[in-house]
Amino acid sequence: MPELPEVEVLVRHLRPLLEGETVRDVLVRRERVIGGGSVRKFTKALRGARFDGLSRRGKYLLFTLRAAKGSKPLLLIGHLGMTGRMYLSPQDRPLPKHAAVVLDLGRQNFVFEDTRYFGKLTLDGRAIEKLGPEPLGGDFTAEQFAQALKRSAQAIKVKLLDQSLVAGVGNIYASEALFRAGVSPRVAARRLRSAQAVRLWGAIRAVLSEAIERGSTVPLSYAGADARDGFFYFGRAPEAPDFYAERLRVYDREGQPCVNCARPVRRMVQAARSTFYCAHCQRG
Ligand SMILES: [Zn+2]
Repeated sequence: MPELPEVEVLVRHLRPLLEGETVRDVLVRRERVIGGGSVRKFTKALRGARFDGLSRRGKYLLFTLRAAKGSKPLLLIGHLGMTGRMYLSPQDRPLPKHAAVVLDLGRQNFVFEDTRYFGKLTLDGRAIEKLGPEPLGGDFTAEQFAQALKRSAQAIKVKLLDQSLVAGVGNIYASEALFRAGVSPRVAARRLRSAQAVRLWGAIRAVLSEAIERGSTVPLSYAGADARDGFFYFGRAPEAPDFYAERLRVYDREGQPCVNCARPVRRMVQAARSTFYCAHCQRG
């Protein structure tokens, strides 16, 4: 499942490819992904609009377009859900079976493909209204984070997935950040000591920026659903070197030795999601 680093890497990849491109036509094959509102309205708003920017908020892609010179910008919000992919594909290549929305850009198509249709490509701005601060932005301070934790009785691992606490941290990086900070995933958020909260705050930023760094240096395959190898959500491009494989320290490593103490990494289920941790290194 794509998390913040994957989305950031995708945004950096797509931005220069989309800037200046004009939407000639719109094809909605799965109505559900445009998030309510009619296909006719969606199509009408986008047809003729020009891409002039792409940024990220949490796990959302924010495409800005302009219908015509001087007109108000249009915000198109994308979310990859569990299986979504967004990429450019030559016009003459047949559309994949699970293409949910296709924007005709002339020589190329912008394809939003999603086998399970949990993703979104919508003009409805409500999705991003309640998001907390960006973990890598200036608004996410250690003080504010520690204060917010004091108000929650939830287990810290579960609380980290709350997008109003901090935007974009998902299941993988929540486990990784807790391991990095040496904090037990079970401890109630409000029980964290100040020093632990500050360590966790730093660990969240570190694991996310390192993943973005890596994803930005390795050639990835954005469209190739069959190229996945567990390394990065998008999968490695055939020409990518394979020495980046050891990226995650606890996630999906149940039973394998902890990188710090060699005791086996454990898995438990919290709020219906797997948590991976080292019971020895994350006692506090
Ligand atoms: Zn350990």
